[in-house]
Amino acid sequence: MYADFQRFLQKEISDIREAGLYKSERVIVSPQGAEIEVSSGKKVLNFCANNYLGLSNNPQLIAAAKQALDTHGYGMSSVRFICGTGDLHKDLERKIAEFFGTEDTILYAACFDANGGVFEPLLNDQDAIISDSLNHASIIDGVRLCKAQRFRYENANMEDLEKQLVAAKDCRFKLVVTDGVFSMDGNVAPLDKIVALANKYNAMVMVDESHSAGVVGNTGRGVTEHYNLKGQVEIITGTLGKAFGGAIGGFTTGKKEIIEMLRQKSRPYLFSNSIPPLVAAAGIKMVEMMSETNELQDKLHRNTAYFMEKMSKVGFDIKPTASAICAVMLYDAKLAQDFAAKLLEEGIYVIGFSFPVVPKGLARIRVQLSAAHEIEHLDKAIAAFEKVGKETGVLK
Ligand SMILES: *Cc1c(COP(=O)(O)O)cnc(C)c1O
Repeated sequence: MYADFQRFLQKEISDIREAGLYKSERVIVSPQGAEIEVSSGKKVLNFCANNYLGLSNNPQLIAAAKQALDTHGYGMSSVRFICGTGDLHKDLERKIAEFFGTEDTILYAACFDANGGVFEPLLNDQDAIISDSLNHASIIDGVRLCKAQRFRYENANMEDLEKQLVAAKDCRFKLVVTDGVFSMDGNVAPLDKIVALANKYNAMVMVDESHSAGVVGNTGRGVTEHYNLKGQVEIITGTLGKAFGGAIGGFTTGKKEIIEMLRQKSRPYLFSNSIPPLVAAAGIKMVEMMSETNELQDKLHRNTAYFMEKMSKVGFDIKPTASAICAVMLYDAKLAQDFAAKLLEEGIYVIGFSFPVVPKGLARIRVQLSAAHEIEHLDKAIAAFEKVGKETGVLK
């Protein structure tokens, strides 16, 4: 039997290759950081990690994790509601709620699970979910698992959102869902306008802060801080896998009855293992560090502003944003691929994105800034961009 299926898969895989969509993985042999070593022995400057605050290899987080290994062991061997709840899990949930100014938090193994498990327990076929067209795959999957009626609005388009809110007006409960920062353009969701429209049409709001927590807002509290809306959205989801240390884990934080219901009914919470105590301990340390000092957020904001300003001056087409994602627009898919390959030769690791990840004709290189970068790293990247830009005729 397998022979037929094997031939089928081999054909599909070769089609993926021919379409130029095959994903291969570069092997890193050093810790994650501004400078990384890949398996060929080459050292490159890394501008494609979600390591926004440079915490992936932070000595204080490592020390907290090591200490938790000694005091709490390695694994929990249980879901939370049987015997997988430790004091560190409860502490981290409290700390995350303090961080965002919310009422309570529930942890998951990943934000993919938080989004996968948030809709189905809360809403049914009498209700409506109104979702941005560029929302993350995990939100799309979570919505699919829920019986609520589905409405979609064009990315960050408030006219369209209002149309969808009107279309959904007879539904019992309405929930507008958006990413805080959209990962391909780096644009920040217009949460002030979303909340205003939601209020007008009696809808609730959920924002996924995965790319914005630790990044957006003066103190990195995310888009709710950026728009002065702390405590005004019902549901926030986020990840411990990006700015918050980069290991693993996700969370939903918000109104306490919502969190309480998720603990009763959310399937990825009820039927999947508890995060390791060492990850919870490092998460607690991370929030404590961010309450004591704003150093890392300030450095990230300085780095981002510096990079975007210099790149525009050099002549690149940059989308301005309050996030730490800089989309360098090249438009042509082949050019974006070649450009990224040439940058790697120059020791700059970035990724070119083209269709179907972004719309046809809007290929780009995505640069992700980090507090781990020093000015000399940024200058080296800008010089390499300029050199390759001239070689490829992108810059005159
Ligand atoms: C990365 C990301 C996720 C997934 O987070 P994990 O914790 O890695 O599962 C979910 N939503 C958004 C918007 C993301 O960017």
